Amino acid sequence: MASFNAEYTPLEEIPKLRTELRDSFASGLTLPPAFRIQQLRQLARMCQENKDAIAEAVAQDLAKPKIEVFSAEVGPVIERSLYAAERLHEWTRPEKIEVNTPWQKEWDTRLYRLPKGVVLVIAPWNYPVILSLQPLGGAIAAGCCVVLKLSEVAPHYASLLTRLLPQYLDSRAYRIVNGAVPEVTKVLELQWDHIFYTGHGAIARIVSAAAAKHLTPLTLELGGKSPVIIDPASDLTLAARRVLYGKFNNAGQICVCPDYVLIPASAKPAFIAALQDAYKEWFPNGCLESDDFGSIVNPTHHARLKGLLDRTKGRIVMGGRVGDDKKGRMVRMELTVVDGVGQEDALMEGEIFGPILPILEVRDVDEAIEFVRARPHPLVLYAFTQDDDVRRKVLLRTTSGNLVFNDTFMQLSGDLFDYILHVNELPFGGVGESGYGRQAQKWSFDIFSYERSYVDIPPRMEPGLSHRYPPYDGRAMAIMSAATNMKIPKDDVSGGGVEGLF
Ligand code: NAD
Repeated sequence: MASFNAEYTPLEEIPKLRTELRDSFASGLTLPPAFRIQQLRQLARMCQENKDAIAEAVAQDLAKPKIEVFSAEVGPVIERSLYAAERLHEWTRPEKIEVNTPWQKEWDTRLYRLPKGVVLVIAPWNYPVILSLQPLGGAIAAGCCVVLKLSEVAPHYASLLTRLLPQYLDSRAYRIVNGAVPEVTKVLELQWDHIFYTGHGAIARIVSAAAAKHLTPLTLELGGKSPVIIDPASDLTLAARRVLYGKFNNAGQICVCPDYVLIPASAKPAFIAALQDAYKEWFPNGCLESDDFGSIVNPTHHARLKGLLDRTKGRIVMGGRVGDDKKGRMVRMELTVVDGVGQEDALMEGEIFGPILPILEVRDVDEAIEFVRARPHPLVLYAFTQDDDVRRKVLLRTTSGNLVFNDTFMQLSGDLFDYILHVNELPFGGVGESGYGRQAQKWSFDIFSYERSYVDIPPRMEPGLSHRYPPYDGRAMAIMSAATNMKIPKDDVSGGGVEGLF
């Protein structure tokens, strides 16, 4: 593992830091929209003015190609920070709520979206920039003070951000904690007004238990095995290219990476041939030597992935080689496709989180759906089909955080030409084992805000409310128990299909 070059935060500093942020929050520093907008723009400026240094740091940690850092990390943070700044007045505007009950019509009823307080963001290493700065941006927009715990597994990025953040953002409101298990354990002993955790489900259980002690609300952005279902009638060449693209980004170390493919036997040979063709076209000399292909984050993860390849009972039909990087660390692994993988195979034990793609044969799409249903709910379910019946079946008979038809990964990267790097109108998040909570854009703002209902009942309404005071009489009983006598409509069991759901 790379040596850590960002200083760990001394344990005794952590409670002090939280107290300082609480004082700042209590002072109202982060409440004015103008302050939030300025800080969001500063976040964008920090990323823009230091994009090369950020790309360099991420390359040191992950050998991630610069184009991936710009397109999937730095670019989206800039775009989303500016978008949030632009929309902030709209998002924070109190909403006048119209009530339907006639005798409440004259009450003053509103909804406020207010900051939760001092929040904790715990970030992972695989997309270290966006997965730390996107939630930070959401919390800034919401008007919170933030402690950002960066991953110790991406130390060069952690070191750089620790230096940059105070140069651009107000340190009275936004601070970084660096370190590993002892530091994060200390952080989790404290009470926070929200915890936003991105990472592995096993650690999420520790975070959840710590949050439960203080009844802290939580967002869990986790991973798991995101399957790909291939309808044999779909364009197999296109499907293969698009699946391989999703597997190739960051050498497969991304939570939305297509983890495995479920495909009927009739379509399998053509699909595998198309994977091999795409690979040869993109990497004529193999990807091990190419700067366009990332490395595994450290030798420990590499050994885990190599172990999976050693233990699989499947047959490697593409790639399979490993190697070391320019510093002599064993962290390189080819884009690898393994055919003939069974349900009990080593490659199906957990999330692969690397450049290995197992292919599992199924009878048909129905069997693929049953396969997915029998397992924990994935973060993303990918399916390739042009058939509406298949789309409907996949939608209504499976559960996943996100459902993507006919491509992979692009749901996060949007229209590069218009420089809108996300489907801004759609939220991102998991369900069940892949987590809960929704992020990006307005959803990130919502996570760190709470909706406060506001009612002002005018004194002049008193005569109409006097029946609530004892002693109760027959009139009071008639008014106050009216709902218990409501008419319940008769059931109409015709039209009991699912048409309206698709
Ligand atoms: P990681 O090892 O960097 O851990 C994430 C954070 O957890 C770090 O800040 C780390 O310090 C902290 N941590 C480590 N041990 C801890 C402990 N005992 N108690 C509390 N915190 C602790 O990252 P990772 O977990 O290897 O990340 C990979 C996982 O994250 C994969 O499963 C991936 O799918 C998932 N992921 C999900 C998303 C998403 O948005 N849904 C994004 C990226 C990654």
